[in-house]
Amino acid sequence: MKRRLVLGALVLMGGVAIAVAAQQRPQVIDIAKVSDNYYVLTSSTPGNNDTFSGGNVGVFITTAGVVLVDTKLAAWGDTFLSRVRSISNKPVTTIVNTHTHGDHTGNNDRFGGNVEFVVHENTKTNMAKMDAFKGDKAQFLPKRTFRDRMTLGRGAEQIDLYYFGRGHTDGDAFVVFPSLRLVQTGDLFAWKDGPRIDRANGGSGVQYPQTIAKALAALKDIDIVVPGHSPLMKMGDLQEYQRYTADLLKTVQDAKNSGKSVDEAAAASLAMTQKYRGYASERVKVAVQDIFDELNAGGAAR
Ligand SMILES: [Zn+2]
Repeated sequence: MKRRLVLGALVLMGGVAIAVAAQQRPQVIDIAKVSDNYYVLTSSTPGNNDTFSGGNVGVFITTAGVVLVDTKLAAWGDTFLSRVRSISNKPVTTIVNTHTHGDHTGNNDRFGGNVEFVVHENTKTNMAKMDAFKGDKAQFLPKRTFRDRMTLGRGAEQIDLYYFGRGHTDGDAFVVFPSLRLVQTGDLFAWKDGPRIDRANGGSGVQYPQTIAKALAALKDIDIVVPGHSPLMKMGDLQEYQRYTADLLKTVQDAKNSGKSVDEAAAASLAMTQKYRGYASERVKVAVQDIFDELNAGGAAR
């Protein structure tokens, strides 16, 4: 009752008040428990876009402290930190960012001092271009980088970082927890929909299918896939996404080779997407445009 009265008053006061009300809405970050030492702070509650807090975050509890994979959007920092604290009181010792985007790196600057940041070398370069890491904030840029593969910790606490090639960006890390038989894919596999191809950060729709194919060939003994922005999945879903991105590329290539427009390529791609059960098509047109542009540019190597 009280809440309804408050909302009514705000509506009377017009647009500015409504904007304030939106900001004051309580922030919700759900936690998915996978094991006693690994949790996911989810990207959003299914069906509720108001809960979009940034990418899925892996919270791995080791003897020495907490390892985080990604740090969500800056505006969700307080809620994010309190959710991490609700899982473990141990200090955060290590942060791995799967790639450069602000919904995966937004709260790096909330962790100073002894926290070690680890990213792919191209992601460090991409992060250095972001306003969020300029000036004073440059101190939060990762100091530790890898090129093809890096192992952190050992035994049951081992984490393997892999780079398989360009796709979403040119610095997408796959983060494998062998003891959990689990991989976090970042946004190379974010959702069942057209891939976001960030060409400004080295992403490539032409390389995308073979990058995922390389990952599938290299990663064995994995049961659980934590995508960038979707609920937990299985390796079969990643295998299907590899076929989907290959189909998408081929559809655009075929359309282009027969002299069709980008709109015709998009229509063919939307029809192709319908063959994949459970796939959305909100992001297909944008992906087609990006692949089209990349092919026009000669699929230039970077
Ligand atoms: Zn991203």
